[in-house]
Amino acid sequence: VAKGAGKSQWRRYQPELHTTFVERLELRAELDHAIHEGGLALEFQPIVSLADTHTAGFEALLRWNHPTRGRLLPDAFIDVAEESGLVVPIGEWVLKTAIAAAATWRRGQPYGAPYVAVNVSARQFRTPGFVRLVKRELAANELPASCLMLEITESLLLRDDDQVWDDLAEVRRLGVRVAIDDFGTGYSSLSYLRHVPLDVLKIDRLFTGTVATSTQQRALVDGIVRLAHTLGLEVVAEGIETRDERDLLRRIGCPYGQGFLFSRPMPLPEALRWLRRAEMAA
Ligand code: C2E
Ligand code: MG
Ligand code: MG
Ligand code: MG
Repeated sequence: VAKGAGKSQWRRYQPELHTTFVERLELRAELDHAIHEGGLALEFQPIVSLADTHTAGFEALLRWNHPTRGRLLPDAFIDVAEESGLVVPIGEWVLKTAIAAAATWRRGQPYGAPYVAVNVSARQFRTPGFVRLVKRELAANELPASCLMLEITESLLLRDDDQVWDDLAEVRRLGVRVAIDDFGTGYSSLSYLRHVPLDVLKIDRLFTGTVATSTQQRALVDGIVRLAHTLGLEVVAEGIETRDERDLLRRIGCPYGQGFLFSRPMPLPEALRWLRRAEMAA
């Protein structure tokens, strides 16, 4: 509070801060509970080929069935999870559950089974034993490493930490693919991509949302796609909501896309039905 602020201002702001603080503590305790009591869930959103609409993979997205607030999306709790360190056990649960799900859909489709893409926070990736965990869960579920993709963020790469680079190289040696998520929203420079051990670039939906409205944006996305290809990276455009966006991205040469136009994220049984329907249509 600024010097000279009246007493009344204190009264006005303090209760809010207090509520927020207590709420965060509460949220943290409830989240801790949810990890052990089955309160977390995953949904799966298809990643499709823009050329022939086949499902190349699914991204696993975390949800929390909160006892009183209802179904919460990650934005509502991922910060609390990060700062409390709960993101580590949560991430472990996500990885296990996502790998088990991929093993399930692979049983129905052993050849060309879709991969599962898992979001990994920087903190989780840097936890000792993370690579071991990945190996163990792949082995336990007999899932080929090529059926797993890890989505990391730029913040992990900006740390310039040798251990991070070694671990990225090690998971890729296993055959796991690594994607950079939300590309274009941070400090990404295309030049550093040359040196980073990566396989896939996910173009953030901020860009996808504008390809249909501005030629300048379209040129920008076109540039990103071409450079990615030059560097040998696969590209996925996130957040495709309209046919226009899909058509323009296809014309630009973007091979894969994800978004509400194709499907919202769905629980596993629905994702399995989605695959069966696609198989029948083929
Ligand atoms: P993200 O990895 O970039 O995931 C894509 C987000 O965009 C998802 O939101 C998805 O539901 C949403 N989305 C997909 N298609 C469309 C579309 O056409 N239009 C719009 N408006 N949105 C679309 P969600 O599920 O709320 O996840 C938000 C973020 O939370 C994720 O962004 C990711 O950073 C984080 N997150 C999700 N699951 C996990 C997890 O298991 N672990 C960690 N560490 N982070 C996670
Ligand atoms: Mg993601
Ligand atoms: Mg993203
Ligand atoms: Mg995002």
